[in-house]
Order: sequence, then C-alpha cells, then structure tokens
Amino acid sequence: MTTTVQVPTLPAIDPATGAVFAETPLTPVSLVPAMVERARLAQREWAARSVADRRRVIARFQQRFFERRREAAELVARENGKPVAEALLTDIAVTLDMARYYLAHAGRILRPRRIAHGNIAFLGKRGRLYWEPLGVIGIISPWNYPLLLPFGELIPALLAGNAVILKPSEFTTRTALLGVTILYESGLPPELCQLAVGGGDVGAALVDARPDKIFFTGSARTGRKVARAAAEQLIPVSLELGGSDPCIVLADADVERAVSGIIWARFTNGGQTCVAAKRAIVESPAYERFVDTLVRKVRTLQLGPGLETGVDMGPIIRESQLKELERQLAATVAMGARVLTGGRRRPDLGPTFFEPTVVTEVPLDAPLWREEVFGPILPVVAADDVEEAIRLANDSSFGLAASVWTRNRARGVALARRIESGAVLVNDATYYVGAAEVPHGGEKESGLGRSHGEFGMLETCHPRFVGSDWLDWIPKPWWFGYHAESMSDRDAFLRFAFAPGLLERLRAAPAALRLMFNRRPV
Ligand code: NAD
Repeated sequence: MTTTVQVPTLPAIDPATGAVFAETPLTPVSLVPAMVERARLAQREWAARSVADRRRVIARFQQRFFERRREAAELVARENGKPVAEALLTDIAVTLDMARYYLAHAGRILRPRRIAHGNIAFLGKRGRLYWEPLGVIGIISPWNYPLLLPFGELIPALLAGNAVILKPSEFTTRTALLGVTILYESGLPPELCQLAVGGGDVGAALVDARPDKIFFTGSARTGRKVARAAAEQLIPVSLELGGSDPCIVLADADVERAVSGIIWARFTNGGQTCVAAKRAIVESPAYERFVDTLVRKVRTLQLGPGLETGVDMGPIIRESQLKELERQLAATVAMGARVLTGGRRRPDLGPTFFEPTVVTEVPLDAPLWREEVFGPILPVVAADDVEEAIRLANDSSFGLAASVWTRNRARGVALARRIESGAVLVNDATYYVGAAEVPHGGEKESGLGRSHGEFGMLETCHPRFVGSDWLDWIPKPWWFGYHAESMSDRDAFLRFAFAPGLLERLRAAPAALRLMFNRRPV
C-alpha cells in the first residue's frame, strides 16, 4: 500500500485572468529557525572566501540572468500583471544593473578604511575599519517589483559575505524562485540564499528566528509590526515603506513634457509603485493647461493583460487592493472631488482592471491626498505660488521621493533641497530607484535606512575597528597612576593640546610630554 503526503502549497495567480498557473510548496513556519541555522553555518565558509571569489558567482548569475531575460520578463508580467515591455526595462534591466554596479564597486566599497587619529594622546595609534558581513540577513519583499527589490538587496549582501533568507511576497513567489534558481545554477551554495515561501506568518517567523538583520520592503502598517518584532529580538531593521510622492509643476515648466513624465511615473506598474508620482501640485498659471494635457494623454493609455503587446497598463494585483482604491476614491468624491477621466472598473478585461484616473478639486484631508494610493489614480491640486507648493508637498506623513518640474534647472535644484524626502528629481520622477548607485530610502513614515549604492552595501556589514600602535612599548597617559604629580601633568597635557595661546601651549609642553612618555603607571 502506498500513501501520498499532501504538502500544502501556495497558488500562483495571474491577476489578468484570476487563473492559478502554478503551485509552490509552502515553507512550514516551524522550519524557519533551522533554515537560519543552516545559513549561519554556510555563511562562515562564504565569508572566508575572497571578494573576488564571491564576485565570480554573481558575474555568472548576471550572464545567466541576461540569457533568460525574456523568460523572466514574461513571468513577472504573468505573476504581477505589468506589461512585458515594462518588466524588461524596470525589473530585468535594473536587476542586471544592480549586478553590474556591485560587481564593479564591491571591492572598493568593502576595502578597509584607514582611520587617522587627531588627538595627541593617541600619538602612534593607527586604525582601520573593516567591513565584516553581518551574518544571516532576512529579506522580506513585496510583489510590485519582485526581482529588482529583493535582488537590489540580495546581491550586495551576498558579495559582502552574508547569507540570505528571502521571504518574497506570497503574490510573486514564482518570480523569486526563478531568480534564486539562476543563482544556484551560477554556483551559489543553496544554503546561502534560501527561499521562505508563504505569507505574513512566514515573514513573522523569519524575524522571530533572529537573523542578524531584516531588510523589509512593504507597507508602513506591516513595517511597524516588523520593527516591533525586531526590537523584541534586538536585531537591526532597514524599512523601505510606502510613499505619497508629490510632483510640483511650476508655472515655467514645459507642461507637455512634464505631463508625459508624470503620467509614466504615476501609472507605470498600474500605479503600484512605491516611488510613483502620487500627488500633483501645480502652480496656478500652469494649472488649466496641465489638467487638460493630462486628461488628453491619460485617455490614450491602453489597458489590458501585460502579456499582450501594445498594452500600457495591466490589472491591479488583487481584489482586496482594488477595493481599497475604490474606498479611497469614493470617500474623496463624497467630500467634493471631481473625476475627470477613468474612475471605473473594467470587468470586460478581467477581474481586477481599473481605469487610469485623474481627480481634481481634492480636499486636502481626503483619503486620496492623505493616504498612500497604491493604484492608478492621480489627484491634482493647484498652488498659488512656490511657497504654497512646497508646503503642500511637505504636508504628508510620508517622505519617500518627490519631483520638481521647471525650465529653470538651478531653481529646481534649490527647491528640491527643501522637500522632505529621500530623493527629489528635477524634470523627471521615479527613475532613481532603478539607478544602482543611488541610495534609496525614505524619511518620516517612509522608512529607516537605505538600500542600493554604497550605503546599501554597507548596511549589510558591521564596521569593525581594529587599532594598533607603533608606540606600543610605552604606557599610555590615561592608564592608572592618578597621583598628585600626574594630576598636574594631566592638566598640562590639556593646556598643551587645547589652550588658545601658542605660548601657553609651549609652556605646558614639558609636563605634557612627561605624561606621555615618562609615566609610572600602576
Ligand atoms: P505588505 O506590507 O502587505 O507586505 C510586504 C511583505 O511583508 C510581504 O512579503 C508579506 O508577506 C510580508 N508580511 C506581511 N505581514 C508580515 C509580518 N507580520 N511580519 C513579517 N512579514 C510580513 O506590502 P505589499 O502589499 O506587498 O507591498 C505594497 C507596499 O510596499 C506599498 O505600501 C509600497 O509603497 C511599499 N513598497 C515600498 C518600497 C520602497 O522601496 N520603499 C518598494 C516597493 C513597495
């Protein structure tokens, strides 16, 4: 007699049709601590290898991932819903570019840094900062950029000598599985990058299993829970959370171009982007022309399944997300806002399609203005002048990114520095999150810490200071031996080091030197 064991699985759902296209075995919550332990053992050997050795694995990954770029883009489109054309230039290109950047710069970023001492008491001391890997890093990811977000953190973490446990979103597990499989095929020992498959319970189990750090990307609501759980374990967290990015269009902007840029930044990925342009603030003289141009251009966007050629915007990821959008829109309209275009579901296309939508006359306390709107709706508000525009931009609990649109680039840069957010772009929006060298992260409720660039890699390391001394045969001035003569020598030492007048410093020199070189310590 044979018995079959039913393994619980996670369905992969195509949001364009609602159909299940794959099943993935779930990771039992009880197994997560053992995964962390396995990773910990493998990490010791990995950390002992040279950076050049680790780079070889990532270089092979980059090559294989490049060869399978079309397959990866189509899987992203199937699982996440975005057009293949978009996946190619966002998810796929940026993942490849993260590998390119860290392959080129890991050696430099991880190189030990000399620390020079300025205090005369430390004469002879030398020191270096070494970047030691933290150990096992837990990465918890969302579904909206299922390759570029985890791989932008995973590649530097591995190159720095860490092991990783990746908990991808339950909505995009197949995409993560493909990326991790390519890593294994490139020669990475599987224990060094394990996939924890499941929902919030598996993510919570990963934090509780006490890895050495958690990189969390997701909503502010879940981020709070993760930060609380990590505090309980006393482990560090990096939090990449939500945003409500303002785009300020000044009266002198090239409106035609600004609208094209803002439309992409708002409606790319069906509006489901952390750094989407989520609030348009337009200086009054440009307001009417901006709104007319916006509505005209938004009406040309093609809605449909991401796997079809010619489509600009796919579906919303899930029904629950769409219901939340509809709640935010209905509540804002009930407060007096006007929908100029869009605002409706499109059941004729599939279960969760929603039209790209433009809303004006938005009260500043309405959900569409105050909350993060994770879908294709752009609220537009007029500002009397630049000062009001900056005030409106900063009046938000979020601070992820922002943009300023003006023909006067220098003025744009000056205004950008007054906007409270992790990145501000002049005459473009959103792109920086795909620039591997730019640190990405937010202020306020948009999060803590940075990923990408040099800062992102160093967040996966301990800075370990190692000090040595070429005067290590003499006792040190601060050691025990607090007798009366030493007291006056200590005072002389302070005068020698810090007194404002040169004469006083010279007078104190003999006693100071006695303290430094002729001590009789305990
Ligand atoms: P989410 O917070 O619902 O889920 C994110 C991840 O956390 C998922 O993998 C989920 O399974 C896991 N999770 C859920 N509960 C958990 C718990 N208690 N403990 C540990 N893990 C848990 O977010 P989402 O809906 O997947 O993504 C959308 C949100 O992500 C938006 O708010 C968006 O702005 C944000 N986001 C931010 C960035 C950024 O870089 N700042 C990038 C992309 C998305």
